[in-house]
This record gives sequence, C-alpha cells and structure tokens, in this order.
Amino acid sequence: MSATRRPLKSLGQNFLVDQNIIARIIQAADIGADQAVLEIGPGRGALTGHLAERAGRLLLVEFDHALAAWHRDQHKDNQRVTVIDGDVLKVDLDALLSDTPQKWNVVANLPYNISTEVLFRLYHVHDKLARMTLMLQKEVGDRLAAPPDCSEYGVTTVLLGLWFDIRRAFVVHPGSFHPSPKVDSVVLNFIPRSEARADVGDEEVFRSVVKSAFSMRRKTLVNCLKSAEFTKHVDCAALLEACSIDGRRRGETLSLEEFAALSRHVTKAVRAAAE
Ligand code: SAM
Repeated sequence: MSATRRPLKSLGQNFLVDQNIIARIIQAADIGADQAVLEIGPGRGALTGHLAERAGRLLLVEFDHALAAWHRDQHKDNQRVTVIDGDVLKVDLDALLSDTPQKWNVVANLPYNISTEVLFRLYHVHDKLARMTLMLQKEVGDRLAAPPDCSEYGVTTVLLGLWFDIRRAFVVHPGSFHPSPKVDSVVLNFIPRSEARADVGDEEVFRSVVKSAFSMRRKTLVNCLKSAEFTKHVDCAALLEACSIDGRRRGETLSLEEFAALSRHVTKAVRAAAE
C-alpha cells in the first residue's frame, strides 16, 4: 500500500509511531465540537484518524502524491474530509481558510525543512485561526519563546509573538518517530490574540523593520536599517533618536515594543511621503 512506502527524507517524513505522544497531541489540540481543522502533512495518518473523528470538517494538505491519494481513498465516504494534493508553501491558504466563517484549528507535525516558512504563512492568516498545535524541531520552538538579546531571538519570535500567545506543551524524543530524527522536537500551542500585542502602525512596515534589523546580526542596528527600502522616506539617525533607541545596539536586543515604536514612526513617515 502506498502509505507504507519508504519515508522520503526530502519531504521531512518522520512519521509519529508513539501512541502516547499521538494521544497527547490530540489532547493539546483541544478540538471543539464541529470545529474546522487543517492538518498540514498528514503523512501516514498518525493524527488524521483522531482528527477526523472529532472535527466537523477536516482539510488535509499533503505534498506526497501517493499519500494524498491514499488519504482520498481512506476518507472517500466521509464528506467532512477534503484532501489537497499540494505544497502548503504554494496553496492559497487564505482562500482555503476563507470558505467558512468558522475559525480553524491547525494541527501538524511539520516537516522540519520547511517549518519556519510554514510558520510565516500561518502568521499571515492568524485572523482565520482559533488555535494551532504544532510539532517543531525543538531548536525552532525554542526560538519562538526566546527573550530579546539571545541568539535564538529572531524574526519568527517577533512576528509570531505579535499575534500569538505561544505555550510549550511538551518535548518529544526521536524514538517516537519512524525514522527517528537526529534531534528533539517540541509541541507548542499557539493561541491567536484578538488584538496585536503592540500597535505597530502598518504591519507591512513592521515586517520590513523587523527583517532589516535582523538582516546582519553582527552589525549595529543603524547599519542594518540603512539598507531597508523605507529609508527612502526616513532618516535612520532621527528615527532612532525619536524612539530613544541607541543605533549602536544590535537588532536582536530590541523588544517587541521597541520594534513597534520604530514601525509606528516609519509608518507615519511613509504615509506622509505618499500624500
Ligand atoms: N502527520 C504525520 C505524522 O505525524 O506522522 C506526518 C508528519 S511528517 C513529519 C511531515 C509530512 O508533511 C509528511 O507526510 C510529508 O510528506 C508532508 N510534507 C512535506 N512537505 C510538505 C509540503 N510542502 N506541503 C505539504 N505537506 C508536506
């Protein structure tokens, strides 16, 4: 059967085989009655059967054609399950999640090689989500919970922290998968906030400020910001002074509130330039 073919390393296929961990993930996902659930990368279905039992509607996105076809066959009599044979990095997630007014519960044991990119995509649809329960490589999970001024603190920490309360549920060791990965994993719960944690002005500007601040980790903030597109409209030294931020600091020392202050100032300048 296709679902038992050798796992593909290129698709990050480390399948969960530990029933205790599977049960704990399902419990952490806390799926409400009739809830809409998205599973990214259902693989051989370790979580999928449990999700199908609970969800009012289940959307599966699987890039491995053989596994997607297998899921289609498995769930052919269940109208509540939809299988997308596709790449989660390419499908129009916003459109997929918009076809119901319900908010979605996302559950995934993410392929490690694309987990950061998937996190960015999920950040962009935060307003369509009720909850996410994601398994990530522990190192990536640690980054999301990192405080400023440490090497793990980065773009994902700041952007996801703006819209989600993130809680570590539990650590999963390599022996719970087949084949076993080389590193530990962590299950995290992401609870979307109804309001952003800080007023950032224009969010596109915010993303650009954060990305440029982290673009060269060894350089000072003022040097990083200088290369950003928005500096066409803003003098960097004046911007930093207006926000009482020392430009000799490194981007990774800034708190979310400091990034938000920079972003509000840049937003004002960009809007004024557009008038
Ligand atoms: N959920 C299953 C489990 O827990 O055993 C499988 C998890 S495995 C770590 C990751 C799954 O994501 C695999 O089934 C893989 O084929 C799928 N996958 C990899 N890249 C993908 C992509 N870009 N879009 C959708 N699915 C992908």
